[in-house]
Amino acid sequence: MAQRVISFHYTLTDVEGDELDSSAGTEPLTFMEGVGQIIPGLEKALAALKKGDKSVIAVAAVDAYGDRDEELLMAVPKDKLPKPDVKVGDQFRAGDAAHGMPFTVVEVREADIVLDGNHPLAGMDLKFDVEVVEIRDATDEEVAHGHAHGPGGHDH
Ligand code: ZN
Repeated sequence: MAQRVISFHYTLTDVEGDELDSSAGTEPLTFMEGVGQIIPGLEKALAALKKGDKSVIAVAAVDAYGDRDEELLMAVPKDKLPKPDVKVGDQFRAGDAAHGMPFTVVEVREADIVLDGNHPLAGMDLKFDVEVVEIRDATDEEVAHGHAHGPGGHDH
């Protein structure tokens, strides 16, 4: 079976219903199946839908961004930082800029800061309110690249 490309609009909330993210007012999110472009729990549920379907999809943390790993919390002396003025919420990449893991500043103290390498949504159960906008077969080029192209996908 040909790989498919699915475009969908979504509103992401936590289990209390507080909105975390939404594609409303922008392009739908476009992904190719089977390559891990989106979180596994969401991909699995979307695969069962048809164009035009609306659905509310609950995704447990384990099928979303995984559990939090407290080993990814680390203190870094301020004089080791690329810039002196940092605030909570700033992000850094460890290692080389393109492939390093993003770390978020979660605490600023007297002499050091605390960085968290967990995804901001790690450990959270999520709820996606989705509407499927389009489903099509992936092009040969998309299959070769391993990702979807076009609005909401890769642009290059
Ligand atoms: Zn490409």
